[in-house]
Amino acid sequence: MRTPVIAGNWKMYKTVNEALEYFTSFREKGEAEGVETVLCAPFVALPALVEAAKGSRIGIGAQNMHWEEEGAFTGEVGPSMLNAVGVPYVVIGHSERRTYFAETDEAVNKKTQSAISHDLVPIVCVGETLEEKEADRTQEVVREQVVKALAGLSSDEVTQVVLAYEPVWAIGSGKSATAEDAEEVIRFVRKTVADQYDQQVANDIRILYGGSVKPGNIDSFLEQPDIDGALVGGASLDADSFARLVEAA
Ligand code: 13P
Repeated sequence: MRTPVIAGNWKMYKTVNEALEYFTSFREKGEAEGVETVLCAPFVALPALVEAAKGSRIGIGAQNMHWEEEGAFTGEVGPSMLNAVGVPYVVIGHSERRTYFAETDEAVNKKTQSAISHDLVPIVCVGETLEEKEADRTQEVVREQVVKALAGLSSDEVTQVVLAYEPVWAIGSGKSATAEDAEEVIRFVRKTVADQYDQQVANDIRILYGGSVKPGNIDSFLEQPDIDGALVGGASLDADSFARLVEAA
């Protein structure tokens, strides 16, 4: 049985004070049994959120990290720094990082390996652009991203990864994939994992859908047999709306 994950990705929103205010109102509502709830916040809010989340079932995550332990990498944050703050999750390879910060599949792979070796749960994002979808290349693109992201990991390590299928055209557009289309791609991702590793690994790995998920459509995604939860941007910014998504899982 795969435990569902409902992860909020705040992106570049919320100051420390706003994050804490949100957490105060979210905490009780957001603690559902049988679901892993995660809030991925800007770096500067992480220490305060980890402190606030102590004793709760809500996990805190970063939205990016460097793969190196430390070094002359101005502006970057390394995995041990996240460990030291007590952050258990990290989003890797989000399409906004791939698009605006030139993150390659190779960088995504190094970050994923580094996260695993630092006991961080990587939430690794893959997904096709509108152009790629219209050229009927969704499966080819997603397959390549998945295979490259997971390269070099053992079967045990792969099962610790959470994958998130986020079609780029559905992010922040209000235009989600249909649940059936998302299921088809996610089933294909699971098959890709089975081909690369084995059926047991494919059965165990959690795969989320992301892209314009909101209280009005989350049920349709969660009903799909291969979709294990959601990675949510806009609808995670409001505590009540995100709590409704957690309740749905
Ligand atoms: P939206 O939910 O705002 O479409 O964003 C999805 C996303 O990018 C989550 O990582």
